[in-house]
Amino acid sequence: MNKLLPQTADLLKDPLKTGDRSVLQELTSKKALEITQSLQTTLDPTRLIEIFSAEVGSLIVHHGVRYHNEDTGIDLKLGRQARHACSYNLNIGDEPLGSLTFRRNQKFSDAEFEALEQLLCSLLYPLRNGLLYEDAIQLAQKDPLTGICNRAALDEMLKRELSHAQRKDTSLSLLVLDIDHFKNINDRYGHITGDCALKCVANMVDACKRDGDLLFRYGGEEFVVLMRDTDLAGAHLLAERIRQYIAENSFDCSGATLSITASIGVSELKQNDDPTAMFTRADKALYRAKKNGRNQVCMAANN
Ligand code: GH3
Ligand code: MG
Ligand code: MG
Repeated sequence: MNKLLPQTADLLKDPLKTGDRSVLQELTSKKALEITQSLQTTLDPTRLIEIFSAEVGSLIVHHGVRYHNEDTGIDLKLGRQARHACSYNLNIGDEPLGSLTFRRNQKFSDAEFEALEQLLCSLLYPLRNGLLYEDAIQLAQKDPLTGICNRAALDEMLKRELSHAQRKDTSLSLLVLDIDHFKNINDRYGHITGDCALKCVANMVDACKRDGDLLFRYGGEEFVVLMRDTDLAGAHLLAERIRQYIAENSFDCSGATLSITASIGVSELKQNDDPTAMFTRADKALYRAKKNGRNQVCMAANN
């Protein structure tokens, strides 16, 4: 197949003779089968586009590809910009799958458009499966009530951030926040109001943290913030800012005006730490904050 490629590129220059066209059609059908096989090796949408572009490139020369999917936020640019573009909106029925643009300096011929359209059919279903899979993975990491990341996501991120910080020798801190006497809110106002309060607290913490900090709902009324490039002193500042903000801002939920407080434990990454040890130190500090009267921040003792 590869040996044919230079000839293929020549063939694609318009106008094509009838015989050339049928050779191209044959090559395209063969390539479509190869693409179908190659795309079975992954469910990662980015990888699917990379493979597709490389496979198509051996039949239809192009210098750059852009895949853009607004729904998922994927904006993948491979290769380089060039003068001419050939764009497709990808759909299965009325389900949009994003747009794909091929670029090169030489104009695309009608024969190439035809071949591309045929090859794109091999991409549609694998791409949809990849997007659905990615969706499912992301959903599994989201807390449905507050919309923030859940404990499964924290377990994964903490492991990743910790090894990154150890490798790069940067600091990493973590805070665990637990709402004080939250049971009273449920008992007094009901669970719907309690749910609303949890969403409000998630929003308040989100408003206090910096863009690079990562927020998770750990469990019931407990939240975790993971702070990159932040030492214990910096983490203490953020924890205190969050505590104060929550204590000073009452909010409305289902007609009730709620004033709540939270207790926070903070720990910093140590050498040879593991995720459990780092989390446990913050959790112990949180326990002290509760014991000392709540509505306060405590720092992990052995940092
Ligand atoms: P403390 O100050 O010691 O933390 O007291 P607390 O009442 O906050 O702690 P406790 O662990 O006794 O109670 C936690 C409460 O959080 C009990 C539980 O019903 C409530 N809770 C957990 N998850 C949810 C949820 O998703 N929605 C609502 N409305 N309540 C929840
Ligand atoms: Mg709790
Ligand atoms: Mg609590």
